[in-house]
Amino acid sequence: MTNTYIARCKTCKTATRIHIAQSEDYGHLNLQDLQDRLRLHCVACHRDLTRSIVKVDGRFWAETNCTSRCRNATGADCTCSCGGDEHGATWDGIFIAA
Ligand SMILES: [Zn+2]
Ligand SMILES: [Zn+2]
Ligand SMILES: [Zn+2]
Repeated sequence: MTNTYIARCKTCKTATRIHIAQSEDYGHLNLQDLQDRLRLHCVACHRDLTRSIVKVDGRFWAETNCTSRCRNATGADCTCSCGGDEHGATWDGIFIAA
């Protein structure tokens, strides 16, 4: 089980997608605690994005084909045939394993 998060840089509009495996260290943390533990900087301009992190909330919806709109998304909500797996995939960046 992996949680996916996206943070969008307001300065340069680049986003970063983060995957965090459920673990003792991070998996149980709520968003507030996660922001306190994690330091996240924009890959392009190095601005601090820690407070911009949102958790991807994917819901499987077979009738909505997964398109670039989903892969380029920077928001939290996903209702799509990928069930959230591809949501914001364009921005894939950081993987934190359990
Ligand atoms: Zn930036
Ligand atoms: Zn999708
Ligand atoms: Zn999506």
